[in-house]
Amino acid sequence: MNNCVFCGIAAGKIPSQKVFEDDSVIAFKDLSPQAPVHVLIVPKKHIQSVAQFQAEDKELAAHIFVDVAPKLAAQLGISDGGFRLIVNTGDDGGQTVPHLHVHLLGGRKMTWPPG
Ligand code: AMP
Ligand code: ZN
Repeated sequence: MNNCVFCGIAAGKIPSQKVFEDDSVIAFKDLSPQAPVHVLIVPKKHIQSVAQFQAEDKELAAHIFVDVAPKLAAQLGISDGGFRLIVNTGDDGGQTVPHLHVHLLGGRKMTWPPG
């Protein structure tokens, strides 16, 4: 989608610190890290948020959570200590970039609940 920063990153038109890529997903370091490890897992397809998921996106959603997130956590060395996955959705959910993304955070003890 035009003017979407994460579509731009997925297309290689906007630079990022990429840590993983396959046919349907890209993962890169967050510009404003909130933990020693903080990457964003982003589908290459433009989906605004979880609220816009369609039935056809089931495989993609499963791919992100079943295949990519745990393997990336292990690759980044945060699997044993534990990690956090966050999917902010919509304005009240704290979403600022309107292209679905999963935050993967780790490398420190996290608190709950979030603000
Ligand atoms: P959210 O509040 O869930 O929409 O999170 C958006 C995240 O994207 C924030 O943590 C930002 O720091 C991050 N971000 C925004 N633009 C970029 C970018 N060009 N490269 C990497 N991270 C970005
Ligand atoms: Zn997009």
